[in-house]
Amino acid sequence: MDKRTITVIRGDGIGPDIVDATLKVLDCIDAGLDYEFVEIGQAALDAGDDLLPDRALESIQRNGVVLKGPVTTPVGKGFSSVNVALRKKFELFANVRPALSFEGAGARYENIDIITVRENIEGIYSGLGQKISDDGERAELTSVITRSQSQRLVRFAYEMARRLGRKKVTVVHKANIMKSTSALFLEAAQAVGDEYPDIEHNEIIVDACAMRLVMNPQAFDVIVTTNLFGDILSDLCAGLVGGLGMAPGANMGEKQAMFEAVHGSAPDIAGQNIANPTSVMLAAALMLDHLDMKDKARALRKGVREVIAEGRHTTPDLGGNGTTTGYTDALLDKLG
Ligand code: NAD
Repeated sequence: MDKRTITVIRGDGIGPDIVDATLKVLDCIDAGLDYEFVEIGQAALDAGDDLLPDRALESIQRNGVVLKGPVTTPVGKGFSSVNVALRKKFELFANVRPALSFEGAGARYENIDIITVRENIEGIYSGLGQKISDDGERAELTSVITRSQSQRLVRFAYEMARRLGRKKVTVVHKANIMKSTSALFLEAAQAVGDEYPDIEHNEIIVDACAMRLVMNPQAFDVIVTTNLFGDILSDLCAGLVGGLGMAPGANMGEKQAMFEAVHGSAPDIAGQNIANPTSVMLAAALMLDHLDMKDKARALRKGVREVIAEGRHTTPDLGGNGTTTGYTDALLDKLG
């Protein structure tokens, strides 16, 4: 069988450890993948390259599938997020973030299975019109929402819901206050929802949604929302199932797809061999689904589920005292 080449960005901080662990697991299950390694962000700058080197962009363009570790973005000053730049460059318009309960993850809730589909390139995170006045007393930025992008995103969410046999899509908005941007998104979502009579269409205001997610998370199925709301709510959902170390994400475009841990580079625990690799492992499972290797994706998720349920190798973020390498070896034992 010909091997499929994917682009791998190992990232910063805990990134290289958890990405390398995941590549070992992909090799162990014979996923038939070749890896083209590229660097972006600080790692690329350190190597004397640009922030987003042409080699990295060409690799992503050519291979179409990326497995990515977290990449550091300096707070306030310094370069803008390369993550945001990549999403824009390849029009990775939908950010899919599943939050799934795992026995043994020490989470506050059980039986959670929520997928948040977040708009990934528009809205308040696009970086449009960022300005600070000369005296530093006034700051502004611009949020633009388009009907075409909103419809494309919501249609993606409904199609995904139908494919996965999900029952309900909840549109999260703030159209009562943001009567231009959020109202346009809601209107577009309603029009698309009408095309899917087999799936229940729900609408909820973002603040009420945050409360409901904490009080009754099992009531949610698929959530679709704009960039900022989706960023915050999907982290909330990750918290419901054991934290950021448990949360994978897929950034989907028409031609390229990038699979990653949703958390950051965790500088506070970098180099200590205690990072939870689950998020990248589950991101790799999403990637295998995308590459039509559903059996291998299922096997990988099952292995992860077993390692966490057994508890001997769970990392400190899940209340255990395991290590990244111990967790990985236990998973390799199961899959090998
Ligand atoms: P973070 O997600 O890196 O860390 C938040 C907390 O969660 C920390 O206490 C960390 O130790 C913990 N944590 C995160 N992942 C973990 C894991 N796998 N196992 C165990 N604990 C884990 O958030 P931050 O500190 O706000 O951000 C650090 C850097 O990462 C910043 O530069 C930020 O811009 C960047 N970032 C990158 C991405 C990305 O590449 N997609 C996403 C978010 C943040």
